[in-house]
Amino acid sequence: MNRRVLLRLLAAAPVAASLSLTQARAARPVRVVVVGAGLAGLGAARALAAAGAAVTVLEARGRVGGRVFTSHAWPDLPLDLGASWLHGIKGNPLVGVAKQAGARAVAFNFDDVETFWAEGRQLTAREERRLEAFEDQLAQAVEDAPAGQSLAALAQRIGRNLNPAESRLLAHVLNTSFEHEFGGTASSLTVQGSHEGDNLRGGDALLPGDAGLIPAFLARGLNIQTATVQAIAAARGGVTLTTSAGQIQADHVVLTVPLGVLQAGSVRLTPPLSRTQQDALAAIKMGVLEKCVLRFSRVFWESSSVLDIVPEPAQAGQWAEWVNLAPVMGQPALMGFNAAEVGRRMATLDDAALTREAMRALRRIYPNAPDPLAMQRSRWATDPFSQGSYSFGSSADPQAARAALHAPIGGRVWLAGEHTSLLNPQTMHGAYVEGARVAADVLKA
Ligand SMILES: Cc1cc2nc3c(=O)[nH]c(=O)nc-3n(C[C@H](O)[C@H](O)[C@H](O)COP(=O)(O)OP(=O)(O)OC[C@H]3O[C@@H](n4cnc5c(N)ncnc54)[C@H](O)[C@@H]3O)c2cc1C
Repeated sequence: MNRRVLLRLLAAAPVAASLSLTQARAARPVRVVVVGAGLAGLGAARALAAAGAAVTVLEARGRVGGRVFTSHAWPDLPLDLGASWLHGIKGNPLVGVAKQAGARAVAFNFDDVETFWAEGRQLTAREERRLEAFEDQLAQAVEDAPAGQSLAALAQRIGRNLNPAESRLLAHVLNTSFEHEFGGTASSLTVQGSHEGDNLRGGDALLPGDAGLIPAFLARGLNIQTATVQAIAAARGGVTLTTSAGQIQADHVVLTVPLGVLQAGSVRLTPPLSRTQQDALAAIKMGVLEKCVLRFSRVFWESSSVLDIVPEPAQAGQWAEWVNLAPVMGQPALMGFNAAEVGRRMATLDDAALTREAMRALRRIYPNAPDPLAMQRSRWATDPFSQGSYSFGSSADPQAARAALHAPIGGRVWLAGEHTSLLNPQTMHGAYVEGARVAADVLKA
């Protein structure tokens, strides 16, 4: 199904669904339990409820939103520790939702960046051009590479005969343009994984501390209960869910737990996933992107939107990218990113150790940087209800793997989430549209 068809479906889902449910409603409404109150779960629950189904949403955490989470620990500086950008605003169904929810969306230019060597010196114009040339070269090589090749293998080919400084620039591009975006190491991300789906146009927009308004708005009017689902058993007559709050019966279940939770086997499924679906769970992997926000008494850094630091080889991939929150949030704060295996390691550090590492990297560029006043950080990698940040393709055909997950388990349990999106995996809108897609599938069934 292409994006246009899906968007039409999003708009028409309640109408189409109420027609298909007319008969069922005469007897009793179809009972659907949606597991997970992230954007996929909320999107599915709204479409199903609007169609007349009796929908219960079960959510393990004491909040909605899943990987969309705004921390209000600092009342004057709300922070999105999960998703924060609408990636492409043209044709993005969440633009309208954000507006209705009262969320601001501010144009954000990732190309407004100042880049430094980790030792402290800013890149010269010539070095900047070399960096950009590597970006172009990698983008082109990805188009031409054989199926199933890893990004690391590709970079190795490009990187032959480079001097040490150039090698560092290439590694930096690989890290910030691919590992950060997909959350996987260049050695496990395949070329197919690195250009899946359909990038929306119109540029990126930052939801400055407002992302959480979107799930809060979508959750309005839904029956959402706090419970951790432990097992789901589908039989001919219906589905039984075993949860921390007891057993629940349903006609259908929409299961939107993240890929990492599925892979960990935290929800026991009967019947189990088919062989094809088990293979699919190995062909896409759960990536990691972690955020660390440091709050200061004053701005001591450049005014660009993004600060990049090209690490030394021994620290490859560490503290390589920072977003300047001062212009958009009006507060002196920097948000640092660490991805893939580096991000996984950062998630195991305590707050003091993480701050020390971050400041060590920043002080090489800004030796007079004051101590931070406070810090906040994400820990998606070790969170049992996410087990990572988002999925990435680690095979020659990740799209086939995602599509294989669309087949219902036992005819009654339907998977949805960013990981099942063919068009926009790794995103909020991808997850939300998947909610509509799965709702339509349930209603058809
Ligand atoms: C650090 C980070 C940055 C990101 N940046 C962006 C960005 O800028 N733009 C963008 O578009 N996307 C971004 N994303 C991706 C985006 O957040 C996700 O793709 C999207 O929110 C996923 O939605 P979902 O509904 O598929 O899953 P989730 O939001 O994870 O929802 C699944 C829900 O299931 C619940 N759950 C798990 N296990 C159980 C259980 N056993 N029982 C009951 N409930 C359970 C979870 O608590 C969760 O609420 C980012 C993600 C992260 C982590």
